Amino acid sequence: MEKYDVIIIGTGAGGGSLLHKLKDSGKKILVLERGGFLPQEKENWDTVEVFQKERYHIKEAWKTEGDIDLHPGTGYWVGGNTKVYGAALFRLREANFETVQHAGGSSVEWPVKYRDFEPYYSEAEKLYTVHGKMGLDPTEPYRREEYPYPEVSHEPRIQQLHDELVQKGHHPFYIPLGIKLNEADRVNSECIRCNTCDGFPCLLHAKSDADINCVRPALPNPNVTLHTNATATRLVTNSSGTDIDYVEVSYQGGIVTYKADIVVVACGAINSAALLLQSANTNHPKGLANKSDQVGRNFMKHLNAAMLGISTKPNPTIFQKTLAVNDFYWGDDEFAFPMGHVQLLGKSNKDQLSADAPFFAPGMVLDEMATHSIDWWITGEDLPAANNRVQVINDRIHLDYTENNTEGFNRLVEKWKHILQSIDSGNSFLPHSIYLRKNIPISGTAHQVGTLRFGTNPATSVLDIDCKAHEIDNLYVVDGSFFPSSGAVNPSLTIMANALRVGDHLLERLK
Ligand SMILES: Cc1cc2nc3c(=O)[nH]c(=O)nc-3n(C[C@H](O)[C@H](O)[C@H](O)COP(=O)(O)OP(=O)(O)OC[C@H]3O[C@@H](n4cnc5c(N)ncnc54)[C@H](O)[C@@H]3O)c2cc1C
Ligand code: SF4
Repeated sequence: MEKYDVIIIGTGAGGGSLLHKLKDSGKKILVLERGGFLPQEKENWDTVEVFQKERYHIKEAWKTEGDIDLHPGTGYWVGGNTKVYGAALFRLREANFETVQHAGGSSVEWPVKYRDFEPYYSEAEKLYTVHGKMGLDPTEPYRREEYPYPEVSHEPRIQQLHDELVQKGHHPFYIPLGIKLNEADRVNSECIRCNTCDGFPCLLHAKSDADINCVRPALPNPNVTLHTNATATRLVTNSSGTDIDYVEVSYQGGIVTYKADIVVVACGAINSAALLLQSANTNHPKGLANKSDQVGRNFMKHLNAAMLGISTKPNPTIFQKTLAVNDFYWGDDEFAFPMGHVQLLGKSNKDQLSADAPFFAPGMVLDEMATHSIDWWITGEDLPAANNRVQVINDRIHLDYTENNTEGFNRLVEKWKHILQSIDSGNSFLPHSIYLRKNIPISGTAHQVGTLRFGTNPATSVLDIDCKAHEIDNLYVVDGSFFPSSGAVNPSLTIMANALRVGDHLLERLK
């Protein structure tokens, strides 16, 4: 059996970032990824292929409550879901690391604080070329330095929206974005600022994803081996159950086994929990590291809604995902609990909207809608709940999720509509607006976190503060599973920063 120093399973935001951290250590590293390289092909930017035909989504069906088939909007690729993400790379706020009282309950305190994450957030922002401008978002956490790259500018329609929001007393700011855009020198810019970014792979490899920024640069290192189309099916412990002895992998038509001193799982919050559960043995009868019965529980995915503000005025914006507002993140004068976060989505086109038809106003001309809409993504914090969980039943992933803490989120959606309407009504060219809303269903697992939370108490958490399983001495997890609570900003930068943090710990341990 081949023996390595470290095996990393999964190459998304967590696994890819950890690989970057460890690649120059000289340690012998095996990377196992169940997907292949996402093909660089014209279909990358084809809305019908990407949104209607779901070309880059997995075909396997999971199950949900009532034994109903669930087709998750997720992909298995080198780079994981960062291949198609919107690259909005936010830091959590300081208070997200504490217990926060919400209208629907309390969030769970993190065992490691913002100050511990801050240097790793900076490191992750450099690694993923994040553009932004500090000092504009009133909820922005402390940062010791400016963003590594300048903010991505607003196009005229969005600048107008920005100015109107400011006039109304709001504090819009630039979305921190991980793209390789050089606005000062567009001729030499890798990113062309196109209209097919958020939700699409980048045909030009100009999006900072875990594949392009971490995995490919690591491959020339002789100590790094990547096996693609290699699915870890089982982690096998030693006879006393204290260490992972070897990893079973479905690879090239058979089952292959690999050994390592350290095994790091980074399959995404749902698949990592599933892997631990399906690795149950006599020492770990309920699944690996699951004496606490916490493995798979506390699954979170944010309360998300996509909203189109359609006005009579055209919106010719090409790259729209530049503006966000956090003014209601912690609540407002009328509501003393957190409400959430508002950001622009990529600009929708008619083919994207027709993927939602007939939900979005059948009979309306989709093209007209698309050319007149401004597209929003609204996020609220969902709270950890024991029954929101991943299980493996009859060898299949089973996902249960019931929304909670919805009051603040629903208020935010309504509030935001009113704010947009008030701006429109101040403009004689915009007498009528239609506001449509679509809540993201359970299959929308984009922001999956929780399931293997970290903490100091083995009775209530799966991982310790270094993201090592409490019960297994050489098993680590570095994807979104470790979140004890979800905050209300996009999760990837926190997953990346944590992987870099755990990487420092592993470099010490491997010395
Ligand atoms: C359309 C879309 C837009 C998004 N936009 C944003 C955004 O703007 N900002 C943001 O912060 N987040 C965004 N996200 C979420 C972001 O992509 C995820 O938070 C992030 O990728 C999660 O990282 P991860 O390491 O936990 O898992 P993933 O990135 O999903 O990586 C898991 C990897 O493990 C592999 N794997 C799974 N099981 C196995 C196995 N058994 N054996 C081997 N390999 C395995 C998978 O193939 C995958 O490569 C978006 C997601 C989507 C889908
Ligand atoms: S906007 Fe830039 S990074 Fe995004 S898909 Fe287009 S070229 Fe790629």
